[in-house]
Amino acid sequence: MCPNSCIAYTGPFAKLEVCPTCEESRYDPIKLKSSGSRVKQSQQQFYTMPLGPQL
Ligand SMILES: [Zn+2]
Repeated sequence: MCPNSCIAYTGPFAKLEVCPTCEESRYDPIKLKSSGSRVKQSQQQFYTMPLGPQL
């Protein structure tokens, strides 16, 4: 989903790479660039956020 929680990249948004609301990149631009666009690391996902470090 969008790092700013605008939308989830499912259904009609599944193929988008930038958020249509806030224009934030779907993928981590640093990892994307350093890997030559091979690594598309989502900036935020459902259910997979590591809760431990935040507690
Ligand atoms: Zn957004």
